[in-house]
Amino acid sequence: MNKDFDIAIIGAGPAGLSAAIYAARGGLKPVLFEKMIHGGQITLTDEIENYPGIPESINGFDLADRMKKQADKFDVATKMEDVNSIKEDGKMKLIETSADTYSVKAVIVATGAQPRKLDVPGEQNFTGRGVSYCATCDGPLYRDAVVAVIGGGDSAVEEALFLTKFAKKVYLIHRRDKLRAVKIVQDRAFANEKIEIIWDTVVEEFAGDLMLKRAKLLNRKTGEHTELEIDGAFIFVGFVPNNELLTDFADMDERGFVKVNGKMETRTAGIYSAGDLNEKVLRQVITAAADGAIAAFSAEKWIEENFE
Ligand SMILES: Cc1cc2nc3c(=O)[nH]c(=O)nc-3n(C[C@H](O)[C@H](O)[C@H](O)COP(=O)(O)OP(=O)(O)OC[C@H]3O[C@@H](n4cnc5c(N)ncnc54)[C@H](O)[C@@H]3O)c2cc1C
Repeated sequence: MNKDFDIAIIGAGPAGLSAAIYAARGGLKPVLFEKMIHGGQITLTDEIENYPGIPESINGFDLADRMKKQADKFDVATKMEDVNSIKEDGKMKLIETSADTYSVKAVIVATGAQPRKLDVPGEQNFTGRGVSYCATCDGPLYRDAVVAVIGGGDSAVEEALFLTKFAKKVYLIHRRDKLRAVKIVQDRAFANEKIEIIWDTVVEEFAGDLMLKRAKLLNRKTGEHTELEIDGAFIFVGFVPNNELLTDFADMDERGFVKVNGKMETRTAGIYSAGDLNEKVLRQVITAAADGAIAAFSAEKWIEENFE
């Protein structure tokens, strides 16, 4: 049993990294757990141009590295371990990971979200063979190819624009007759000659042989079925919260996002939730970082009041 730390922070995305910086500067000894790569979802995007203080815009990996470097500067211990469960043990919380068990006074869960699947035939089968959820990772494989992006929000439209750097044609398939992305991004898409928007349409199936070859489409207004020849499909239709660790400790909305108060407190004392995992109106780096900072500040005060 490891008893070296005051507070566990689970997930090294923008929320977890910010929480770690604030906790360490607040005099706590934090341990930050990450199961994949520090940065979380920002490592999936090529360009972040709306984080204040970086007017020239920044690649997601670079921003993640800068946040990690800042946490390292304050001696945050980072463990590349998958957290399996949180348990209550008297006043303490036990964090069971793939490598060890940690006994801490408080926990901040910042496990984020993962891409929502379309749940159509062929999607799983062609994942990694034409179907992707990450344009930054896979976009360069589609030089001079024809690709489709599915979705109509910020991520979908921004990633469609990014893909025009490689692909010769990008279809943007959206189930409604209006995009949800912010206006500046929409205007760029409308002005880009490589992007063609297919409105009111959903993908019913992905088909091909060894590799993806086509998407079978349904126009929701006319009921017409068509087939679109494509080399790749990028799916950006929202996110599913990684909420498993909190099922016994927090209330959630109908989609599984965690309900917290203004201090990022869940219904369980000493357990906080921050970032994209939470019920909120805007899931971005700036709001995730803010949640992380607030959670660490609240946890610090709570530990002060409840221990020693
Ligand atoms: C394609 C794309 C483009 C985007 N573009 C922008 C943009 O331009 N500007 C902007 O502000 N935002 C953008 N976003 C949104 C932004 O990336 C997220 O809002 C932000 O990353 C949320 O941070 P988070 O820390 O809450 O969660 P995440 O970034 O999801 O990080 C959660 C971390 O927790 C880890 N984790 C999960 N479960 C466990 C476990 N059990 N044990 C250990 N670790 C675990 C995950 O591996 C992950 O690293 C974009 C998102 C995507 C997908």
